[in-house]
Amino acid sequence: MELLFLGTGSGVPSKGRNVSAIALQLLEERGATWLFDCGEATQHQILHTSVRPRRIERIFITHLHGDHIFGLPGLLGSRSFQGGETPLFVYGPAGIRSFVETALTVSGTRLKYELHIEEFTEGVVFEDEQFIVTAKLLDHGLPSYGFRIVEKDLPGTLLVDELRALGVKPGPIYQQIKRGELVTLDNGTVIDGRKFVAPPKKGRVVVMMGDTRYCEASVELAKQADVLVHEATFSAEEAHLAHDYYHSTTLQAAEVAKRAEVKQLILTHISSRYQGEMCERLVEEAKTIFPNVALAFDFSSFPIIRKGNDE
Ligand SMILES: [Zn+2]
Ligand SMILES: [Zn+2]
Repeated sequence: MELLFLGTGSGVPSKGRNVSAIALQLLEERGATWLFDCGEATQHQILHTSVRPRRIERIFITHLHGDHIFGLPGLLGSRSFQGGETPLFVYGPAGIRSFVETALTVSGTRLKYELHIEEFTEGVVFEDEQFIVTAKLLDHGLPSYGFRIVEKDLPGTLLVDELRALGVKPGPIYQQIKRGELVTLDNGTVIDGRKFVAPPKKGRVVVMMGDTRYCEASVELAKQADVLVHEATFSAEEAHLAHDYYHSTTLQAAEVAKRAEVKQLILTHISSRYQGEMCERLVEEAKTIFPNVALAFDFSSFPIIRKGNDE
């Protein structure tokens, strides 16, 4: 599991930062990539990475501002040209369907794969046996949502070494033990399967915020996440601008991370007014409140390691 930032700028593209898009690489977990937002030229950014458009399985849109969706029609069309045949799911707030369908229809774009567009409000956006994604409304000029992506816990592994030490050889009996049953061995001993299975592996939690002012909903959504991706459009001293334009400052993002007790904070959606050393200053500001913080640049990647076990 890895986060790959494709665009980290706010509002309009600059030479150093394209507009918003983040890939959540789930190659080991499910051979797929999920995309969060798709600003203009996201498909150009993808060309510089190992992301394959046909592997993109789901696209989650936080809100309908142009810097988060104008890359969508182009990417959907290119995915078809590049041999994408598997279904693609796009989730977004009300209006995403008419935006995508209008762009595809008027441009005569025909897709060779099934496109499913789902408009969501708060609550569960997607769930399968592996992940659950929920959305919460934030505070922005248009309805803007944050996503909480929760990987479900994996069952613990069988403690094979301990079984071998007892002389229990591999076979169908291992399945019974793994299910936690009481098992009678050949020598008459009864063992409790539950004692030979390691504790479940905790799933990881990633929270992706859409554009927002500082708000309570952010803190609730981010509770104890492994990684929180939060916008920091402005520096601490521009709090008035952040408020007027429905955005956050470095300090506000850090305050959310601290109150939510997340493990790591990544700042993105950075205004083009901050370049070079000024970006380091943004990080220093955030660190005064929350120590484990990084600022994303285009093509930054962050592995998300499972905590509390040896994998
Ligand atoms: Zn934006
Ligand atoms: Zn916005």
